[in-house]
Amino acid sequence: HLEVYAERIDIEGGWKGVILVIRDITRETEADRLKTELVSTVSHELRTPLSSIYGFTELMLNREIDTMKQRKYLSTIHTETERLSNLVTDFLDVQRMQSGGQRYQMTPLDLWSIVEQVIGLYDVSNGQHDIHVHMLSDERPTIVADEVRIKQLLNNLMNNAIKYSPDGGRVDITIGMDEQTATIQITDHGIGIPQYAFAHLFDKFYRVDNSDTRRIGGTGLGLSICKEIVKEHDGVIHVDSKEGQGSTFTVQLPLHIMEKA
Ligand code: ADP
Repeated sequence: HLEVYAERIDIEGGWKGVILVIRDITRETEADRLKTELVSTVSHELRTPLSSIYGFTELMLNREIDTMKQRKYLSTIHTETERLSNLVTDFLDVQRMQSGGQRYQMTPLDLWSIVEQVIGLYDVSNGQHDIHVHMLSDERPTIVADEVRIKQLLNNLMNNAIKYSPDGGRVDITIGMDEQTATIQITDHGIGIPQYAFAHLFDKFYRVDNSDTRRIGGTGLGLSICKEIVKEHDGVIHVDSKEGQGSTFTVQLPLHIMEKA
């Protein structure tokens, strides 16, 4: 975006001229846009969990409620609090990314064990999750990466795969490698993504707008954080999806090449 400003100058003695000031305001416009988006997302996304927490605690405080119901209400409050907490984490991350304040601690990591640790966060015993991991290579790929960030990346993709699928929908994680690259694919069989959205999917605040995604809720920040993390690791991320059939997110990261003595 350019801002153009012109001023006529008349100088004594008959000289006349125009001063043109052209300023590149792309950064300012982008920052303004993000701020507006932030405010509208915050007000929308904070309100839903907050009013639900408020409503259920009020109910529990004002009425005699049997233990079964208490547990049910508490479980909702728990889920909604978790949602709020994720929201705040995402906002802070985006803020930090914007100000360039992220530090990455790179160490050699065994990708398989990272994936296993991330999957360990999901309780598969309650029938809500059906997660399968496959290894395509004989060797276990080692990458040089920031452990916290790589877990965050995989967690965001896993969360989406589960969130945008019907309960108990199957999620497959495939790990593979070739000479220089480790590849992780996360496949779900959920609502899928329309093709027109592919180009914007990794933009901050972008969400596909339909009745399913509106019901499910979200900030549109998760994938933009994923993209940033992958970029910092010199990797690539892309999506393949069919509406109504499911999605596959593929992340490729450079392998840790061991120096031969
Ligand atoms: P959020 O999930 O908070 O809206 P993301 O940045 O993680 O934000 O994702 C952006 C959008 O991409 C989502 O709103 C959704 O429309 C779409 N999306 C992401 N992952 C999936 C998936 N696995 N299946 C279907 N749609 C997805």
